Amino acid sequence: MTAREKLADAMFPDVALTPEHFENIYPPRQLKEGARVTRLAPSPTGYLHLGVLYSAMVNKLTADTSGGLFYFRLEDTDSKREVEGGAEDILRGLNAYGITPEEGFVAPGEVRGGYGPYRQSERAAIYHVYVKSLVAQGLAYPCFCTEEERQAARERQEAAKARTGYYGEYALCRRLTDEEALARVEAGESYVVRLRSPGSEERRIRFDDLIKGTIEMPENDEDIVLLKSDGIPTYHFAHAVDDHLMRTTHVLRGDEWIASVPKHLQLFRVLGFKPPKYGHISPIMKEEGGNKRKLSKRKDPEAAVHYFVQQGYPADSVIEYLMTIASSDFEDWRRRNPAEPRGAFPFNLKKMSASGALFDPDKLNDVSKTVISRMDADEVTDAVIAWAAEYAPDFHRLLARDREYARGIFAIDRGGSKPRKDLAKWADAPDFAAYFFDEAFDGALCLPEHIAPADAKAVLAAYRGVYDPAQDRQAWFQTIKDLAPSLGFCPEVKEYKKDPDGYKGHAGDMSTILRLAVTGRANTPDLCGIMRLMGKERVLARLDRAIARL
Ligand code: GLU
Repeated sequence: MTAREKLADAMFPDVALTPEHFENIYPPRQLKEGARVTRLAPSPTGYLHLGVLYSAMVNKLTADTSGGLFYFRLEDTDSKREVEGGAEDILRGLNAYGITPEEGFVAPGEVRGGYGPYRQSERAAIYHVYVKSLVAQGLAYPCFCTEEERQAARERQEAAKARTGYYGEYALCRRLTDEEALARVEAGESYVVRLRSPGSEERRIRFDDLIKGTIEMPENDEDIVLLKSDGIPTYHFAHAVDDHLMRTTHVLRGDEWIASVPKHLQLFRVLGFKPPKYGHISPIMKEEGGNKRKLSKRKDPEAAVHYFVQQGYPADSVIEYLMTIASSDFEDWRRRNPAEPRGAFPFNLKKMSASGALFDPDKLNDVSKTVISRMDADEVTDAVIAWAAEYAPDFHRLLARDREYARGIFAIDRGGSKPRKDLAKWADAPDFAAYFFDEAFDGALCLPEHIAPADAKAVLAAYRGVYDPAQDRQAWFQTIKDLAPSLGFCPEVKEYKKDPDGYKGHAGDMSTILRLAVTGRANTPDLCGIMRLMGKERVLARLDRAIARL
């Protein structure tokens, strides 16, 4: 046995398996030509960031549109960052937005697939086999440097205006002989395991990023840590082993990882793995005071997906909106194919913006209004009731008292070829529906300037006399027109415009007066439908109340 093999054995006395073992039990996947295997590999930091949802969506689309597979792996090697229940929160969020992985963790507490375990903290035995093999080949070594020694090296680097990091002449333990290292391991000294980097800063690497195009960077020359002193791997090392053994073909992740690509490509090479293809996703940005910055967990409520749940944006709205960010041609496609499922969209990574897309709340609202306008009354009613149960208890009490009445509210002007787009989110519903409930109706009457209160009063009194709750929309308006001449109003707008001074107003003004009396608003969906839903008693009470106030 060589000294090097002895060293590997002393460092990993319990490791008997070889990398071949894992190559055999995690064979290449049997997927059709061109199928892409993608993944989301979050740390369980406890909440679903909009950027993570976005990245998950892009990964899933890439897998789905190629007949591939999207899986979820939990990168929980950094226990300091771990939040209790954090992974479950992320999974629950993905599930709620329909971005459910097919393999790995697919839902809270539910794991599927033959390439696991999918939690890094359960894979220590696998990582150790690979590190042992690297040590035995001289491609990794134990590093015994103490924090003081590292600090002294950093000071020397600063004094020499050199890069900080463990490389070249500053990589003290790299120069230990195998015998020296063995003796220190056997003496029980604490150590981390480092890569013996074959790289040089003088050389450059090139890779084709699927989103950003060709990127050139200096090679990695740092002897990065593979295993920490407690035997837990670093993210860099663990992810390379995992992406290989889980047979990942495409790594699509946030572009904060671009700087790590030289390290990652080197790790793949040293480990003898074929590297995946990379695509680095630009972050979602926010504009503030003319400056663009990344959506921030600290400053922006909309950075957390939970915000959209609280506001009552349907999951579909958020995903449709994220699609418009992800692909410059999605909106066009959607206009041409309003009813197609999203899966039919020919998604292409090349259409993703190489710089950050701006989060645009107005756009989200527009997209969401369209999504909601296409939902049927029952869907809307159920969704609003479920949302209100959680976030608007007073409103929920009103709705729950009479579901049919609630359904009637959301059914008005829905289902036709040009549905109204009043609601962008369920949080708009309490205000939208307020006047339907006596408890929330304030009865304020703000008449247009050109209508005198006495004339408005006369219109309401006359209408009260002929009001017929059974009338359809046409008959309803005819009734108003028929009343017009006797009240000094003009039945036809066109006629009125020819001689505005000859009348007190026109039939449209009369319906506005009625609308104000019944709803308190100048702008509502179809008033005839509203009055039918409200019922005779409530309408009469409101007319009387308005008449008394004028
Ligand atoms: N665990 C890393 C993160 O928290 C994943 C990076 C990657 O996708 O490679 O973002």
